[in-house]
Amino acid sequence: MEKEGDTRSDFLKNAFDSIGAPLFVKDQQSRLIYINDAFCDLFALSREEIIGKTLAEDVSPKEMEIFLKIDQQVLTTGVENINEETLTVRGGEVLHISTRKTRLTDADGNRFLVGLIHDITKRFKAEQELKKAYEQSEGYQERFRLLTLNMDAGVVIHSPDTSIVQNNLRASEILGLSDDQMRGKTAIDPDWKFVYPDKSPLPFEDYPVNQIVAGKTSIKDLQVGIYKPGQDDISWLTVNGFAVLNGTGDLTEIVTVFVDITEQKKQEEEKLANQLKLEKTKKELNQAQKLAHVGNWIFNPGMAKPDWSEEMFRIWGFDPKEAAPDYDPDIISRVHPDDQQLFNSAFRKAVNPGTPYDIEFRICIPGKEEKIVRSIFEPAQDENGEKIISGTNQDITEQKKFEKDQVRHQRLKAIGEMSSSIAHDFNNALQEMMGNLEVINLESGLSKNALERLNTVKAIINDTAGRVSALQKFGDPKSDENNSRHINLNTLIQESLNQSRPLWKDEMEKKGQRIKVKTNFQEIPKIYCPEGELKTVVFNLIKNGIEAMPDGGEIIIETGTRNDLVYTTFTDTGVGMDAEAKMKLFEPFFTTKGFNPGRGLGMSGAYSIVKNCNGDIEVSHSEIGKGTTIEMTIPISQQAELKVLKEKVSKEKVSKEKVSKEKISKAHESYRALWVDDDFIITKSSSKMLESLGHTCATANSGKKALNYMEQNPCDIVFTDIGMPKMNGWELAEAIRERYGDNIKIIAVTGWNMREKVEEESTIDHFLQKPFTLNDLKIMLGKIVQDFEATKTSLRQI
Ligand code: ADP
Ligand code: MG
Repeated sequence: MEKEGDTRSDFLKNAFDSIGAPLFVKDQQSRLIYINDAFCDLFALSREEIIGKTLAEDVSPKEMEIFLKIDQQVLTTGVENINEETLTVRGGEVLHISTRKTRLTDADGNRFLVGLIHDITKRFKAEQELKKAYEQSEGYQERFRLLTLNMDAGVVIHSPDTSIVQNNLRASEILGLSDDQMRGKTAIDPDWKFVYPDKSPLPFEDYPVNQIVAGKTSIKDLQVGIYKPGQDDISWLTVNGFAVLNGTGDLTEIVTVFVDITEQKKQEEEKLANQLKLEKTKKELNQAQKLAHVGNWIFNPGMAKPDWSEEMFRIWGFDPKEAAPDYDPDIISRVHPDDQQLFNSAFRKAVNPGTPYDIEFRICIPGKEEKIVRSIFEPAQDENGEKIISGTNQDITEQKKFEKDQVRHQRLKAIGEMSSSIAHDFNNALQEMMGNLEVINLESGLSKNALERLNTVKAIINDTAGRVSALQKFGDPKSDENNSRHINLNTLIQESLNQSRPLWKDEMEKKGQRIKVKTNFQEIPKIYCPEGELKTVVFNLIKNGIEAMPDGGEIIIETGTRNDLVYTTFTDTGVGMDAEAKMKLFEPFFTTKGFNPGRGLGMSGAYSIVKNCNGDIEVSHSEIGKGTTIEMTIPISQQAELKVLKEKVSKEKVSKEKVSKEKISKAHESYRALWVDDDFIITKSSSKMLESLGHTCATANSGKKALNYMEQNPCDIVFTDIGMPKMNGWELAEAIRERYGDNIKIIAVTGWNMREKVEEESTIDHFLQKPFTLNDLKIMLGKIVQDFEATKTSLRQI
């Protein structure tokens, strides 16, 4: 039985082994008792490894339960079970298998479970692919349908003859054509056309579809416009398209896809325009900042560096191509040491807590002139309400200089005005003295001693009058006789140097000192100035230089041109000036050389002369113990020349003929004169002086009294003061002319410096400056006599 049984089981084994499909046999406890070769091959397992196991060892407990349950069901019920599963075998291959489990019972009634495995991997995969392909193709179709319907692109399919076979809705919308027009069933408006980006029409052969047909190629991102009749704006498209060829390379259809980019293009253009506008604005702002010397800066706590405008870089002397400099040390080190504390604390408080400031400080850029800058900060907020720390810097150096010049000029002008009125009062007082003196002088029987003393007083009055006249000139420099001509300043300076040689050479050498004089003359155009006066200026500049160097030194004189100006600088290595001297230098009578007659008038004179030439004179540098540089500038201006010429011509017209001294001494008639002045002392002495010259002279102390007198008493000559209360000299002269015509000679006598004005006045014949001497009066009468004689001659001729 056993043998028989053995034989039978051998047979079965052989039979099982020969089955190509993988097969296994399990006992009632689900333990493998047999596997065939195909099984070993499929799972890459050896019999030793697997016999005795259940095949469920490697699965999860839950799966294991199901797995073993199936086994038990088959074993107990004998109902076949087919189960499909996916598993990964040794070597990583994924298998899909179908296992068919059946029950076998041997002769002894032992039950076995026989499992037959089918490898369905290939079938499974094919099915999957098929399913996927199906799903995909279905999805595609649907998607494509939706896409072409709803998509923003126009899609057109053409047949090889370019006629339209199919198109989506968007295509006809974009092209502005109905489906029928697209298909060629109805005509298109002849004005409908494609245009190039420059808006010129696209020739028919260049239409996108024609380009594709001609080259059997694709087109990519071609930009064209569509001009639709009745619509102002061109619609813009980007067109893509390709040709569909069959196996033999023949064209079967053409697909074009296009997108409307009008809006996008408009936005791009707007963006570009805005950008250009922004750049232009920025440029203009830069230009404006440059002109106004104003720069601005922004610094926010989040920023590593402040943002500077171009002008900021210029003001601080940094390169605008580089990033803004660091506060410390770049910026702070350029602030003048004396201003650093002010600058620092203002900036710190501005950053936190945001205190506004408006400060002025100095900037020192190496190798450059010091600048004065005004810096303003006010807290602000950006559009998000965030704190902005920003401010402006303005270069106010020029402005400050101008203000300083203005102040100096105003000051000198005020002093000038004051000088004139002081001079006027002085002249009147001097006239009172001189008149009385001359009257005393007329008395006979004066001792020689008395006469001598009187002459001394007269000399003092004359000397004082001379100094008052210098004051007057300062106050009214224009009153000078203008004898301008074209001058070469280099020659003039050289001549002055030669003339002052005794001062700077001989006298210094006598003292054992030496002054070196250097000149550095550039070629300069001529200037138009009164030569004699300009020589005085130059002489005074040289003299001051010499006087500033009692122990010797060096004088350097330079000339050159700058813009429309000729400039000259006088530099000495002398004592220099302190701040007060620099400020008062041009004021009359300012001197540091002791109060001696004639002192303190050199520079004030120079100032008025240079101003009269429309020029300028200033201290460009002076330092105690180091020396001084004074610069004078005079314009090269034809305007100035013309003005002077015009003045000359008009003056010649009104100028009276000069009278020679012989004529004065000539015997003449006795005239009836009237002397009008609100000053009794003057009328009294003046009338006496006139009488001493052989004329009769009445007096009046107001214009009204003068006119009253004249109603009763005929007069030949009227001498009148100008500044009188109620009726002034001009008004009196006019009234006399009105009543008595030109037969009466009128002479203005005044302490004001107004010869020119008087000579222009047609009502007045002559001008007599106070204080005058008896001799001056004699000369004046000589002129009047001549006037009368000339009138007589002309009357005789009539
Ligand atoms: P003066 O020379 O008679 O004093 P100025 O009008 O010529 O009068 O000069 C006025 C003052 O200006 C001088 O007293 C002197 O203090 C100052 N000054 C002028 N030139 C110089 C100079 N080159 N160096 C130093 N101080 C000068
Ligand atoms: Mg001087």
